Amino acid sequence: MSSLKRILVTGGAGFLGSHLCERLVAQGHDVICLDNFFTSQKSNVAHLLEKPNFELIRHDVIQPIFLEVDEIYNMACPAAPGHYQYNPIKTIKTSVMGAINLLGMAKRCRAKVLQASTSEVYGDPEVHPQPETYRGSVNPLGPRACYDEGKRAAETLFMDYHRMNKVNIRIVRIFNTYGPRMHPYDGRVVSNFIRQALQGQNITIFGDGSQTRSFCYRDDLIEGIIRLMNAPDNVIGPINLGNPDEFTIKELAELVIEMTGTKSKLVYQPLPQDDPTRRRPDITLAQKHLEWRPTTKLRDGLQKTIEWFRSIDMTHYRAPTPNY
Ligand code: NAD
Ligand code: UDP
Repeated sequence: MSSLKRILVTGGAGFLGSHLCERLVAQGHDVICLDNFFTSQKSNVAHLLEKPNFELIRHDVIQPIFLEVDEIYNMACPAAPGHYQYNPIKTIKTSVMGAINLLGMAKRCRAKVLQASTSEVYGDPEVHPQPETYRGSVNPLGPRACYDEGKRAAETLFMDYHRMNKVNIRIVRIFNTYGPRMHPYDGRVVSNFIRQALQGQNITIFGDGSQTRSFCYRDDLIEGIIRLMNAPDNVIGPINLGNPDEFTIKELAELVIEMTGTKSKLVYQPLPQDDPTRRRPDITLAQKHLEWRPTTKLRDGLQKTIEWFRSIDMTHYRAPTPNY
């Protein structure tokens, strides 16, 4: 039997999804990219359209769809706080109804299905770094809940379809990932700081900048996701993927200023409600089961990301929401 598969990537036109499609197309698989283009644009996958093994479908995962595939990567969901908080009801529907629709498809065609979950399932963590066994500290009523609780409910659905219907699942908990093709107006910290630096605007630090994040370069992350999909069937996760090197937001801002040579100044704005104070993945499981660890240092990944931001015409990008 051929090892080439029919693979569906939902959210396939997004920042991570488009790179995943690119990798899978290059491996020779038949790739179907499904997206409603809420936070992305066709230009992210335009270079793949001429490939005979790539197909693009405009569709919303909230609605059922019937396709025959061997594997599904469920990446569809707005990921930046300004995007997922714009229409919180739609966000939670995307996670929950999207999971139900795709798990139903996986059950029907016996496909393997991977859920892009998130470090946000740990909320504002009391345990540091965060292992997969930590159950998290999420405010179910706050402005981040539509995303955090939606992703938590999706994990529950994945486990229940696995236990009840023997669906072959994978769950990956992705920690902050950055790189070329991030939306310049997504409001996430790396894209915001680089865009502000290149446009000579003030760099907006929320709070005092002492909160931490651990930034993973997108190529490392995509490698880990593909390894998890191809891992033995007893490795279903959840598995953390992220870079354990931890930085304060102020350190990140200073690095971006130094690397871009901008004259931009730091300005301080209020910390958004429920903003996690620290975050760093424990990647012991990924190392053990996937022999995976990130290899790109923040400075090297930022260099590539800055080069990409310099190369694009930002006026060609539509801000998906007014919240950036
Ligand atoms: P992104 O916003 O660039 O990509 C999400 C894609 O999903 C976009 O193309 C968007 O148009 C599409 N989408 C949104 N709602 C949809 C719907 N209802 N139907 C169909 N398509 C829809 O963000 P990203 O960073 O590439 O994130 C991809 C996935 O990884 C998301 O599920 C996100 O939650 C997860 N994730 C990302 C990070 C990160 O740091 N980048 C961290 C944790 C989890
Ligand atoms: N942040 C910031 N300035 C910005 C955007 C974000 O200081 O212009 C902070 C934000 O408050 C958070 C961190 O950077 O503490 C990471 O934010 P992001 O939205 O990238 O991701 P998340 O909070 O979901 O990890």
